Amino acid sequence: MTARVIIVGAGISGLAAAWKVVDDSSERDGIHPEVIVLEAAAEVGGKARTLQRGPWMFEAGPTGFLSGEPALDELVRHAGLTALPAKAASARRFLVRGGQLREVHAKPFKFLTSGLLGPLGILRMALEPFLPACEADLEESIYDFARRRLGRQAAERLVSPMVLGVFAGDARKLSLPAAFPRMRELECQYKSLFRALARLKLARRESGGPAGPAGVLTSFEGGLASLPRALATRAPFEVRTSARVESVAAADFGAPWRLRLAGAGEAIEADAVILAGEARSSAALLEDLQPAVAADLAGIDSPPVAVVALGFGPQALKKVPRGFGALIARSEGFRSMGVLFDSFLFPGRAPEDHLLVRCMVGGATDPKALELDEEQLIGAVREDLARLLGLQETPLFHEVVRWPRAIPQYELGHLARVARIDAAMDAMRATRPGLHLAGNYRHGVAFGKAAAQGREAGKQVVRHLAANDQRR
Ligand SMILES: Cc1cc2nc3c(=O)[nH]c(=O)nc-3n(C[C@H](O)[C@H](O)[C@H](O)COP(=O)(O)OP(=O)(O)OC[C@H]3O[C@@H](n4cnc5c(N)ncnc54)[C@H](O)[C@@H]3O)c2cc1C
Repeated sequence: MTARVIIVGAGISGLAAAWKVVDDSSERDGIHPEVIVLEAAAEVGGKARTLQRGPWMFEAGPTGFLSGEPALDELVRHAGLTALPAKAASARRFLVRGGQLREVHAKPFKFLTSGLLGPLGILRMALEPFLPACEADLEESIYDFARRRLGRQAAERLVSPMVLGVFAGDARKLSLPAAFPRMRELECQYKSLFRALARLKLARRESGGPAGPAGVLTSFEGGLASLPRALATRAPFEVRTSARVESVAAADFGAPWRLRLAGAGEAIEADAVILAGEARSSAALLEDLQPAVAADLAGIDSPPVAVVALGFGPQALKKVPRGFGALIARSEGFRSMGVLFDSFLFPGRAPEDHLLVRCMVGGATDPKALELDEEQLIGAVREDLARLLGLQETPLFHEVVRWPRAIPQYELGHLARVARIDAAMDAMRATRPGLHLAGNYRHGVAFGKAAAQGREAGKQVVRHLAANDQRR
């Protein structure tokens, strides 16, 4: 009898899981599962949503991904796409300090004279290599870590806006070991972040690798959503859209799991299930089966974010420095958390010589911003752009996309929460195997990390099917 695997959610983690189930099964004799991906939305891709509006093409969700993630490399091959590295200009990044854009330089002299930190802040940062290193299992917030190692100015002016950029999150609430585990490892291994950076740079140079940070911002000619779309189109499995799973239950007879779809109430049986939706939606599906897991999942906050895309004519393009964009600390008094200069990131996003920007609003430090209506959001963002870049022009194009639950927050206690979830799921699988979780709320919020987590769940399911097969 052919086993059936159901994957709930066709974001990148669900699609990665589905492809992995097919790939790994094909390498084992006797397992040829039927794989079905059920997606509530009318389109696949989840947060990866590229929108085309006449000549303007913009990302409503992730801008791209960092190259070098094996799970994504594998998916790009399956999709038959050619990865598109961002333009060289995207390497220039800016922060806002004192209401002005300031470039973040890697070279020490340029960094010191950029105006990002005052003399006391610079002196305090210079002490970093001489400070005692961490206690390995200390859980502290990103802000406390940055303040301990680099000082208050760096924590507020450099690190906090960076946390807004990655998590739309509050550095004072997020857990360093959960959100940036590599930072903690580097501190413990090298006893200093500066020493770690220097050693890693040297090691890369000696091995002939790139001197800069690992990974290059990458997308595709048709935008990031090309990847999930192609993965679904070329899938050697079924993908059903507009198919919301309403419940998952342990079946008393037949296959171990029974899923019920919204609407017609159709029931589907499965030998294995991967829940690859957001934390909140997986929580809803686990409420009856695993109430404690459901409560833990529901407790992961994902504050809302609005993405405001604006297109301007050639006059405006001249006012914007060529670069990736700018991050803005809350204390600067702007509504936007950051602005991305899309015209300089990937080709084909705006008409020739026109300017496309996207402003991010809301997040953990300003969730009330999402109470604004569309006109108010656009007005607030235009005010920011006028103050920051002198952009007074009327946009030729505008659109607002709202994400009511954008990015999961790895708050203090997150690692313990994930450990509890994993332990409870393991305990359940000991008696009733086949139900797995995937998604960006566990071990990394980046697009590539979500794919890696889906891939891992896919692997586990094939191991389970193989074990079942041997028992028969
Ligand atoms: C505004 C924004 C900007 C971002 N920028 C970046 C960036 O630049 N770089 C980066 O690396 N990452 C970025 N991210 C994060 C990244 O987009 C996500 O981590 C990643 O796309 C999550 O993928 P996922 O498959 O885990 O979840 P999702 O993409 O959320 O997919 C989950 C899917 O499950 C479906 N689903 C849920 N419940 C059910 C159900 N009951 N039945 C059926 N289907 C269901 C949903 O409809 C959805 O399609 C950004 C995120 C946002 C919101």
